[in-house]
Amino acid sequence: MEQDKKDQLFLKLFNVWGEDAQIRMCIEEMSELTKELCKYLRYKDFEPEKLEKVKENIIEETADVLLCAQQMQLLFGKNKVEEEMNYKLSRVEKRVNEYNEKHKNN
Ligand SMILES: [Mg+2]
Repeated sequence: MEQDKKDQLFLKLFNVWGEDAQIRMCIEEMSELTKELCKYLRYKDFEPEKLEKVKENIIEETADVLLCAQQMQLLFGKNKVEEEMNYKLSRVEKRVNEYNEKHKNN
């Protein structure tokens, strides 16, 4: 689905269920992803037979969190979030390049 269509749908959700409900949903979805990531780290070394299901769950919960995060962008300022992301990406890029430069000869 194109971003414009998604944004229109998100605005509909705010109108029908309200801003508070969508913020609570975002918190809930973030905790679901947190739980699955914890399970992944726990199972990968000790119970690998459970990993396939956990990976499926991580995919589902990541999709949920990304959809919720897009709603938060709409609520709190899409352009400002974009600016912040660009700032943070530039900062981490600089740090990783400095790290690589420092450890190049080791
Ligand atoms: Mg979920």
